[in-house]
Amino acid sequence: VTPIRVVQWGLGAMGAGMARLVLSKPGLRLAGCVDSRPDLAGRDAGTVLGTGPLGLPVSADPARLLAEQRPDVVLIATTSWLAEQMADLETIVTAGADCVSIAEEMAAPAVADPALAERLDKLARAHRVSVVGTGVNPGFVLDLLVVMLTGGCHEVRSVEARRVNDLSPYGPTVMRTQGVGLTLAGFAAGVADGTVAGHVGFPQSVRMISDALGLGVDRVEETREPIVSAVRRETPHVVVEPGMVAGCDHRCVGYRGATPVIRLTHPQQVRPDLAGQATGDHIVIDGTPPVHMTISPEYAGGLATQALAVNLIPHVRRAGPGLKSMLDLPVPAALMGEPAYLRQP
Ligand code: NAD
Repeated sequence: VTPIRVVQWGLGAMGAGMARLVLSKPGLRLAGCVDSRPDLAGRDAGTVLGTGPLGLPVSADPARLLAEQRPDVVLIATTSWLAEQMADLETIVTAGADCVSIAEEMAAPAVADPALAERLDKLARAHRVSVVGTGVNPGFVLDLLVVMLTGGCHEVRSVEARRVNDLSPYGPTVMRTQGVGLTLAGFAAGVADGTVAGHVGFPQSVRMISDALGLGVDRVEETREPIVSAVRRETPHVVVEPGMVAGCDHRCVGYRGATPVIRLTHPQQVRPDLAGQATGDHIVIDGTPPVHMTISPEYAGGLATQALAVNLIPHVRRAGPGLKSMLDLPVPAALMGEPAYLRQP
């Protein structure tokens, strides 16, 4: 059976993990890698990934790579923002490849920009390929899992989901965008000028849940509060002294009229364990029957994002043309063993 040929676009923390996972799956073949970092261009992808030589130089010229390799699927892991990724998505679609993006805004692209989403959908249909956005969150824990858990409910009045995680593994960019290590005044200023952004993806998750269940959410409100640390916390990238900010308690409420029907909370901080806070994912459905689900500790975000992107490859191959969401595709499953995913569509 012919393996599915995959190009990895973006070789950062997520993309490199995705490329290594592609290499480990018998039904998939890594056909090339793209990254715009000058220090990576031309280097053997295998040395960048730490797997040993692969004979695949990292390309800084994606259009040419795609024209030469004609991959079946491109996985893209470069940015969070639809507008920033749009030109690259158009390059992929125009080259005739299906695409899985982990950009947060791609989980429900019409939320950020309906016109861009429509343009991408039309282009994908014209080239008979499909494009989908996924990732741990948005794309899985605070939306798809919530939706699936309501599948056995007669009725749902409201849903609440909370993801408590540890930011310690992440680097300087995440520390900055979550306000870790700031004073209270610095955090307030950062929220005001947008540098402390918190989690990217709440409006997308709310849209997915509301659309899937027909909850009719017509307004979304977000709040970002500092998580002030009572203890000293330290990671390789930041030191938080007592009284300083250890992270961002970001919350979002989706209203139908005056009624809150979806509540999502995602307090993100370094070393929550030092404050006696366990990590975990919690979903509470006020419905008939009521549903309470807890995953403890948190569903590991980096590993899950890499896996979701790769595990969707057979699904995006078989999806009809156009822009898809996680709600349109079959239930994602780990690609194991001698699998059915080797069958070409
Ligand atoms: P990263 O900064 O480690 O890696 C990004 C890589 O992409 C870098 O190597 C950079 O050089 C490269 N790059 C950027 N723009 C490019 C372009 N136009 N062409 C080629 N290469 C380009 O980031 P990461 O941790 O790998 O995450 C990637 C993105 O995915 C981030 O925006 C992150 O927020 C998002 N993400 C989403 C989810 C989710 O749940 N949906 C989960 C994890 C990460």
